[in-house]
Amino acid sequence: MKIDALIVGAGIAGSVLARKLAEEQGQQILVVDKRNHVGGYCYDYRDENGILIHKYGPHIFRTDSKEVWKFLSRFTDWQDYQHKVLANVNGHFYPMPINLDTVNQYLGTQYTAEDVEEYFEEHKISLIEINNVKDVIESQIGPEFYHAFFEHYTEKQWGLPCEELPPEIVARIPIRKNRDDRYFTHCYQALPKDGYTNMIQNILDHPNIHILLNTDFKDIKGAIESKHTYYSGPIDEYYNYCYGKLPYRNVTFKFETYPVEQYQPVSVVNYPNNYDYTRITEFKHFYPSRSSCTVIAKEIPSGGGYCNESAYPIPTSVNKELYRKYASIPNKKVTFIGRLGEYKYYSMDQIVEYILRNDISGRRKEKTDG
Ligand SMILES: Cc1cc2nc3c(=O)[nH]c(=O)nc-3n(C[C@H](O)[C@H](O)[C@H](O)COP(=O)(O)OP(=O)(O)OC[C@H]3O[C@@H](n4cnc5c(N)ncnc54)[C@H](O)[C@@H]3O)c2cc1C
Repeated sequence: MKIDALIVGAGIAGSVLARKLAEEQGQQILVVDKRNHVGGYCYDYRDENGILIHKYGPHIFRTDSKEVWKFLSRFTDWQDYQHKVLANVNGHFYPMPINLDTVNQYLGTQYTAEDVEEYFEEHKISLIEINNVKDVIESQIGPEFYHAFFEHYTEKQWGLPCEELPPEIVARIPIRKNRDDRYFTHCYQALPKDGYTNMIQNILDHPNIHILLNTDFKDIKGAIESKHTYYSGPIDEYYNYCYGKLPYRNVTFKFETYPVEQYQPVSVVNYPNNYDYTRITEFKHFYPSRSSCTVIAKEIPSGGGYCNESAYPIPTSVNKELYRKYASIPNKKVTFIGRLGEYKYYSMDQIVEYILRNDISGRRKEKTDG
């Protein structure tokens, strides 16, 4: 088989790139994926009760990019959805990220926005150096809120004490001085009306794009003649782990069905303390459903080493250095893309934006966003 581009991986990175090369350059594309479905980590499916399940954890689409929104809107209609998250601390539900209500409910106060600002000013720890995650958080919000909402959650998520986690693992902790309880504040927030798998199938639906599922790159390497390969699988695996394995944090999803209309008040509830899971997702909150039962997933992080369902790259300086070693191996025939190819956490919109804006050989397109 003779093709212009072989794309390994039918996740969102490989699929958007396939569409772009097919549509803009008329290239003949073969997309291979070792799974039995397209969509990669964004894959969703309807269960026997008609509930749309995100197999690899809750995927909430949001973006500030008009370009990304316009592009994806060619392939799906949208379901309005504003993501809300609660944290279960000592049996009480508190809005996350921390807002005025979180502070007042937790402290039993009636603070105004100014009082909240003053509270955190007074309670934050002054530090000369920020050496770890504990320092990052305590220097912004002080020990009490750190301990109740972040310490154990972060430790469960990464499997290490916060004192041993590098500062770059957490960003700034947003503290809202108002009652806005939306998890995200992006301009565009919604879910694909018929799910991510359907949207990605539509992206791949082009006469120049050919798809082979249940096909591992290893098994067809050499049998396919292509001018270039774009690889969205793990970069270390491609090079047979010649410098060692890039570590990932994995998550296991424990699905449970209950014969009730609703299990919890919002789609995602965080469990920062107690329990081995970090959060519970209830899928019915994403899309209206008439089902009399409900499905939840408990999310249990594990591993710090290599695992087959590698979820989160662990961005320590040692790991980044190891990735750089792989990325600097000269290879004109292959370009690595996506979260596994670039060993980088990308949200869905970031990966789409990256692929739309770059010619992947590095030239930037002019920014077109309004
Ligand atoms: C738990 C979790 C929750 C997330 N939630 C959100 C969210 O709410 N919102 C958001 O915007 N983003 C979210 N993300 C990020 C989102 O999943 C990624 O942005 C997206 O999956 C990146 O797509 P990708 O194509 O790079 O990788 P993937 O989706 O992993 O696709 C890579 C594909 O390559 C295939 N592959 C690998 N090796 C081979 C091989 N040797 N041969 C053939 N095929 C191969 C794999 O089977 C896979 O299908 C979340 C991620 C995780 C881990």
